[in-house]
Amino acid sequence: MAQFPTADEHLAFLVKLQRLLSEGDFAATYKFALLMALADISVERGHDAVRPLDIPMRDIAEKFIDYYWQQSMPYGSSVGSGVGSGVGSDISGVLDSSGILSQNMGATAKVVSDIQAFRSATHTDSIARARQQKAFGGLVTAVAQTVAKQPVTYFQNIAGGRDPFVFERSVSGVQLNPGVSSHLRKFHGLIQHMARDRWVRHIKSNKRNIPILGPKDDLYAFLFETNRNTLGIVSTNLSKLFSKKCFYCGSRINDTPDVDHFIPFSMYGRDIAQNFVLAHGSCNRSKSDVLAAKRHVDNWLEQITRYPDDISQIALDAGVISDQQTILSVAKWSYQQGHEAGAHAWVRKGEFERIGEGYAALGI
Ligand SMILES: [Zn+2]
Repeated sequence: MAQFPTADEHLAFLVKLQRLLSEGDFAATYKFALLMALADISVERGHDAVRPLDIPMRDIAEKFIDYYWQQSMPYGSSVGSGVGSGVGSDISGVLDSSGILSQNMGATAKVVSDIQAFRSATHTDSIARARQQKAFGGLVTAVAQTVAKQPVTYFQNIAGGRDPFVFERSVSGVQLNPGVSSHLRKFHGLIQHMARDRWVRHIKSNKRNIPILGPKDDLYAFLFETNRNTLGIVSTNLSKLFSKKCFYCGSRINDTPDVDHFIPFSMYGRDIAQNFVLAHGSCNRSKSDVLAAKRHVDNWLEQITRYPDDISQIALDAGVISDQQTILSVAKWSYQQGHEAGAHAWVRKGEFERIGEGYAALGI
């Protein structure tokens, strides 16, 4: 029978991880990216048992390319919410570099320069199109080498020593120690939050970034949030596909529709086309960061299985990833977590239901 970590074991891991984040040597942002990658992969295809989990280096490299894709464009270029005006106006004439944020204290981070080289060689503007290019495999190989040489080698160094409590190297990548996949799934939201917070602080503390950042403070949005252009394209396309009907209440949207992350962005902060639904602003605000109730889950499962081609096309148009299998695993994980925590799911404004039996489609 499968064994699961105890509550004490979960907490002991979290305490160590916090220690690693506060005492570890973080000369570059790679280590935050590595932590986020291991946590995301654990949610997407890990397990809760006390067993090891093998993760190929190339899978970690693909995550790095995801995270650094937007970050390897000039800050304030077109992405992020309202980031646009910050750079050029305030410091034009002062800024002689490209507006690319420094991710480390030395030369340009190699992952960033590899992505930039790939983008200019292939004229690719989005991660979704990048993945379709033949040259993408070469980019993954290059990034995997950097990941193996740097963050994987140094991640578990704490205060002069080494404490391999998260993973060991394996032939093809890393192997998470028994129980670690479960810990990362349990604390995924918290871990993402800690890693992103440190990432933002790292970039802000780098003197070379000061002239690029200027006085505006939307760095977090630029680094980690869905950009406005993407949401606009998704909104237009979903409106066409669903005749401007609100996914949640079913009635027509007369003003500008919102695009909601069905599995809340606060739980899983990665854009996958299947996770977008069209909603009234009021329905969206009412649902907020809560999981949706069973009836919505059923509708959502029907929507993504019924319109796979349309959704793939929306993904390409908007430049986000299309991946039905992954978002289904993420949905199962998030509802399982909610179920275990005794959480309630949102039905409509002011109405909630307990996540429990009946969510069979999600394995509960
Ligand atoms: Zn509505």
